[in-house]
Amino acid sequence: MRKPIIVGNWKMNKTCAEAVSFINEIEPKLHDGADYGIAAPFTALKDCVNTAKGLIVAAENCHFEDNGAFTGEVSVPMLEEIGVKWCIIGHSERRQMFNETDETVNKKAKRLIEAGITPILCIGETEAQFDAGQTEEVIRAQLKGGLEGLCPKCVAKMVLAYEPIWAIGTGKSATKEIAQNCCHIVRDQVRVMFGDEAAEGVRIQYGGSVKPNNIKEYMAMEDIDGALIGGASLKTDSFEEIINATK
Ligand code: PGA
Repeated sequence: MRKPIIVGNWKMNKTCAEAVSFINEIEPKLHDGADYGIAAPFTALKDCVNTAKGLIVAAENCHFEDNGAFTGEVSVPMLEEIGVKWCIIGHSERRQMFNETDETVNKKAKRLIEAGITPILCIGETEAQFDAGQTEEVIRAQLKGGLEGLCPKCVAKMVLAYEPIWAIGTGKSATKEIAQNCCHIVRDQVRVMFGDEAAEGVRIQYGGSVKPNNIKEYMAMEDIDGALIGGASLKTDSFEEIINATK
């Protein structure tokens, strides 16, 4: 059985003080029904790691090189040093605004796994691709590129987040049927590339306007093992409602 995993993606929000106070407030509300986590900006990560006891703390990005002339970037050993164990890669905002490609996502995944940091790899189609009926093709291609050359056991431990770009931050969440269908395609692509064990082990999240009032319907779907949540993860009251809805 796959344990559900719910991760809040704070994006470029929260100072260190805000992050610490959020974690202190939310930690006592956690329960065993799922793994819960937050992804925080680089500046807040160390404080988050030092504050969190049960809550997963993830970085929102990393560079695949260990050091060098990459102004403004943060490497995997830097995350490792401060005790970060999870990292989002390939978020659509990074793909669209910061030139993230399947190739760089793949390099990041490899470097993170080598460091014992679990990647949360995001994929998802644009609205135009959805309208053109290209969703399946896009998802499969992103996974082919992003997961290339990884070991089946490594993939089994990863988290894949299916996030249709048209649903992110728009309030226009995918129907549970669309989300299930796409997460099923994600699992199938893992099966094609890495076999049954990886496909049954890998946890697949849906992301895109997940809120306290729709989380349950996604979680009831067979191939959806959790959610990656932006807006609704920023306030403790809505995050707590999501925690309570996933007991
Ligand atoms: P949203 O963001 O929940 O605000 O739509 C999701 C994400 O970007 O991970």
